[in-house]
Amino acid sequence: MQQPRKLHPQTLAVRIQSSKTVQMEHSTPLFLTSSFTFDTAEDMRAAFAEESDDNIYSRYSNPTVNEFVDKVCALEGAEAGVATASGMAAVFNSIFALVKAGDHIIFCSSVFGSTHALATKFLPKYGIECTLVASNDTASWEAEVKPNTKMIFVETPTNPQLEILDLEWVGDFAKKHNLIFNVDNCFATPILQNPISFGAHLVSHSATKWMDGQGRVLGGVVVGRADLIREIYLFCRNTGPSLSPFNAWVLSKSLETLAIRIEKHSENAHYIAQKLEGHAKIKWVRYPFLPSHPQHKTALKQMSKGGGILCFELTGGKESGIKFLDALELLSLTPNLGDTRSIASHPSSTTHSKLKEEERLEVGITPGLIRISVGLEFADDVLADILQALDKC
Ligand SMILES: *Cc1c(COP(=O)(O)O)cnc(C)c1O
Repeated sequence: MQQPRKLHPQTLAVRIQSSKTVQMEHSTPLFLTSSFTFDTAEDMRAAFAEESDDNIYSRYSNPTVNEFVDKVCALEGAEAGVATASGMAAVFNSIFALVKAGDHIIFCSSVFGSTHALATKFLPKYGIECTLVASNDTASWEAEVKPNTKMIFVETPTNPQLEILDLEWVGDFAKKHNLIFNVDNCFATPILQNPISFGAHLVSHSATKWMDGQGRVLGGVVVGRADLIREIYLFCRNTGPSLSPFNAWVLSKSLETLAIRIEKHSENAHYIAQKLEGHAKIKWVRYPFLPSHPQHKTALKQMSKGGGILCFELTGGKESGIKFLDALELLSLTPNLGDTRSIASHPSSTTHSKLKEEERLEVGITPGLIRISVGLEFADDVLADILQALDKC
């Protein structure tokens, strides 16, 4: 028999389809149903006994949700995965399902805001010890490992400063200390970076961002080593953070265009970052694929392109940041990122305004920091809007 041809992950992201109905539709169908029927009591028994792959109930599994997960597994090179209702549900369950009271987790300090809250406010309530280590000082991490350390959780590029952690280094660190290596790969997407190839055991995503990429639905997914995913799956099956089949359908269709969108987002962001560097109103521009980026070499090693996010520091500080946002005509003011529409944000007056100045600086929120999520508009239109807003601040 002829061997089936091995297809590229990007082809699989377009072509994986859980099933076709009798209508022989070309676009993937949506199975909007809470449960599934059985011909016989024996079939139903076998499904519950996991002797068959039949779907039972959409909190456990659903063909549309499975299709989305299978595509992400193909893109990340993962053995298995679980979809969740949001990115935070993916992050939380990828941690909570695998630890118990008395365990210790190391987080890089510049994780997403809600992940930071898990580490500092919520997990400790259940007797799970959490230590935040400086993302840009990996040498200090060794000292934080304890006999009860179970997991290391990192994010790269980080939000909003776009620091790059060396995934190969973290992979070796995790291996040396026998830790579960968990990565939030939201910013890079599986198109630009595959943490599993650097030794990650688990990779989580907010599918709300680039995977949907059009600002429509919330969703999350965690993929990785089959035995760990099995535990996360059982935890989710019993606690219920399931992804809606409708959202899964939107996300599955979106993955068909993820590669081409991310290439264009990256191209636009790189172009705009280059044009802004050296502008009189800007202290510095940060973009992983600019040679001026402090971890540029690491970015080149582990990412195939720079991604759709850039940030810069205004010379005029906080006041300028507010004026800049008000002067924008095209870019949207919204806390989201990873959309076809370009978005600007000024963390120090919005998402991080409740923190004290020194707390903000600790997580890299400088007063004049502007984050841009570059969309799919014509790049010169986005650039022109940024330049005219810079003139006014
Ligand atoms: C948005 C985001 C999340 C949380 O995702 P939701 O879908 O909003 O729950 C987690 N990590 C990163 C890096 C994010 O940007």
